[in-house]
Amino acid sequence: MVRRVLEATTLLGPDDPSPFTLIGDGAPSPFVLIADHAGQVVPAALDQLGLPQVELDRHIGWDIGIAGTTRKLAALLEATAVLQTYSRLVIDCNRPLSAPGSIPAISDGTDIAANVAAGEAQRTQRAEEIFAPYHAAIRDQLDARAARGQPTILIAMHSFTPVFGGIIRPWHAGVLYLRDNRLAMALKPLLEADGLVVGDNQPYAVSDQTDYAIPVHGEARGLVHLELEIRQDLIADDAGQAQWAQRLANMLTSLAPGFTHA
Ligand SMILES: [Zn+2]
Repeated sequence: MVRRVLEATTLLGPDDPSPFTLIGDGAPSPFVLIADHAGQVVPAALDQLGLPQVELDRHIGWDIGIAGTTRKLAALLEATAVLQTYSRLVIDCNRPLSAPGSIPAISDGTDIAANVAAGEAQRTQRAEEIFAPYHAAIRDQLDARAARGQPTILIAMHSFTPVFGGIIRPWHAGVLYLRDNRLAMALKPLLEADGLVVGDNQPYAVSDQTDYAIPVHGEARGLVHLELEIRQDLIADDAGQAQWAQRLANMLTSLAPGFTHA
């Protein structure tokens, strides 16, 4: 009887995976990579949010290609990375909990009826069991680095869809920022020199209302940071992910000394 009550109070069951993957715990590299939309898992209790798999597989479910790209980049940089496991349709880990899109009612034309129906208790469960431990894992890494006096360059990894709202997006990648564009403006010309079309706060711009990771983990700590968006079709397969990881590793490694000297 007690067991049944306990089960009813948690969202994640014994067969649901951890809400985050931590790679390179405490690594000496200056880079820390985070990927808020890396995963597309839905807790078993939520029954795929009532959606067909094809909806979870498209960009509304996750950032296509970014998990593989982030893992490969972390390996090349020998850096720490924290990746979210669950779909942003369950709870968006790059939205303030107060934002309307935190647990979206609709996403790119798809109604998420299970989210409209989710009561306060279930919303709190999603925040406490998915959002909170992921951000705590990032915070713990950043706290430990600060305590060691280790410089940190924070990179938030994302991907975007090549067409949105019927409009073809012209960019291969975008550098996003709010109050501190130092790393964005340093990386942008390197990407452009590689023949790429790079959005300046495109296809999205960072804001306090719509973003969580950069304002909280980057700006509030005064860390050098960047939110990077890569067009998803460029990193949809292993070869594309490897190419982008190598390109970014080369560029970021060349930029690091300018941002980490004492
Ligand atoms: Zn994203």
